[in-house]
Amino acid sequence: MELRKDPITQSWIILGQREVGGESLAECPFEPERIEKSKPILSWPAEGPWQVRVVPHPEPLYRVEGDPGRLAEGMYDKMGPLGAHEVIVETPSHEKRLPQFSDEEIERVLWVWGARIADLKKDSRFKYVSVFKNQGVMAGEEWPHAHSEVTATIFVPRRIKYELHAAHDWFRDKERCIFCDFVKQEEKQGKRIVDVQGDYYALCPYASRVPYEVWVMHRRHNQLFEQPRPGSNRKQLAALLGRVLRRLEKVAPAYHLVVHTAPNTKSKKGELAGYWKTLAEDYHWHIEIMPIVEKRSKSYSIKEVYFNAELPEQAAAHLRALDPNS
Ligand SMILES: [Zn+2]
Ligand SMILES: [Zn+2]
Ligand SMILES: [Zn+2]
Repeated sequence: MELRKDPITQSWIILGQREVGGESLAECPFEPERIEKSKPILSWPAEGPWQVRVVPHPEPLYRVEGDPGRLAEGMYDKMGPLGAHEVIVETPSHEKRLPQFSDEEIERVLWVWGARIADLKKDSRFKYVSVFKNQGVMAGEEWPHAHSEVTATIFVPRRIKYELHAAHDWFRDKERCIFCDFVKQEEKQGKRIVDVQGDYYALCPYASRVPYEVWVMHRRHNQLFEQPRPGSNRKQLAALLGRVLRRLEKVAPAYHLVVHTAPNTKSKKGELAGYWKTLAEDYHWHIEIMPIVEKRSKSYSIKEVYFNAELPEQAAAHLRALDPNS
């Protein structure tokens, strides 16, 4: 496999066949009796039966070993798939899905997400660590067993780069965080807010790309998901996320969820070098959830312009009206 950069859009594309692991995928690889044979990357709790367990992805897109070998091919750039790719098994139970977890159980999963981001950021080769979850067959879920994934990459994904640039420009002009401004405006208008718990907000963004798109954010500024502000209560975040996911289950059979946190400041090389100075003030972590409501999502066409027939104000009102506890 190799990574090639589109010189025009600056996107990195992974090309080539995935190396398939030896084991048959007919059986769930995350059943306790199978998974406990190998050493975990992280196991929670550290002692006794595990509740959340992190293992290497059986068919990783990125590998820790190997030379990044960034090569020029004429005007083009390519490199080897250096990085890390892990699976976070969210529960030993094959049947349980994240929305059905208790608030404490969701909080543990959030803690493990943060712990893996913080640990992988210790490696200065990695520029970015992504945590994401594909729920449902239509979202490209690889196994039905509740899990999320972590990737560490030696590049910053394009969407994050867009966000960093926009946040940096906003801060340069106004000396304020664009995300904090965004939450304040939504608080004032109220109509796109789905749910609130303590200082955490769930809202349908103004320019929602797909029906029922939801962002979960902390109204207090912090660029690092993996490093909660002193005094912030992640159990509130867990409770809110659980309610949002239970609402979304009633309107969409599948979703993508991604945690957006600041890139790794240990890696100072490359295209983002100029942006680090105000990063702590201009970026702000958030969770984006993109439900998939149609058989095949038609909204993202080749033109790369989203078409969404559901106004976020209507989507938020609909989600607010759904009972997350039934
Ligand atoms: Zn299973
Ligand atoms: Zn902020
Ligand atoms: Zn984002």
